[in-house]
Amino acid sequence: MGGYHPRMLIVADFDGTITEVEPLTYLAARFAPKLYASWEDQLHSGEASLRDVFVSGFSEVTVSAAELVGTAVREVPIRAGFRELIDHARGHGDRLVVLSAGFRQIIEPMLAHGGVGDVELIANEMVVDAGGMRASFRELPTCPVCGEPCKRGDIERLRAEGTPGEHVVLIGDGYSDRCAAEIVDTVFARDPLCGYLDESGVPYVRYDDFAPVVVHLRAIG
Ligand SMILES: [Mg+2]
Ligand SMILES: [Zn+2]
Repeated sequence: MGGYHPRMLIVADFDGTITEVEPLTYLAARFAPKLYASWEDQLHSGEASLRDVFVSGFSEVTVSAAELVGTAVREVPIRAGFRELIDHARGHGDRLVVLSAGFRQIIEPMLAHGGVGDVELIANEMVVDAGGMRASFRELPTCPVCGEPCKRGDIERLRAEGTPGEHVVLIGDGYSDRCAAEIVDTVFARDPLCGYLDESGVPYVRYDDFAPVVVHLRAIG
């Protein structure tokens, strides 16, 4: 018996990529509106990292974790075609990984509710204890390129786990996908990632749902 040799590594962001809107942003607007109003400027000015935002975010949320997760499950839909992408990857022998800067405790119930819970997931943890909710981030080295513990290191590690010369695909939409988009073979992007990639000269394929992504992947081989 030979080992498992994936033919392609497909890495998909979760918030705003697999979901139609960003659940963390949606939840913040709903349950921490003042914080929400301050996020975008802080991120664009570089004064805050995504970690800073998430860490401060939970302290501002006034509802229970169960209500937070339940709201995301009920109100944030999974983007059309993700089931087909999972089935395509499985049938093709590809490794499909959901790589999120968000939280497993929110993501897993959303995937399960959308009928797409059977996918590999790498995410951070939302710890709920007597002190309330807090973020527990995975141990990641600080990226030498962007200065944050970003997805680039994850992709390099996942690539090293695969076969040499494996075709690596990133599907993303936002801030957390910028740095990783520079090192993969094919990028599928939605706004606002498209704008960043245009400025950076990184080629990409625009997508609105996953059906054209599957068609494009089939064409790659
Ligand atoms: Mg995203
Ligand atoms: Zn980076």
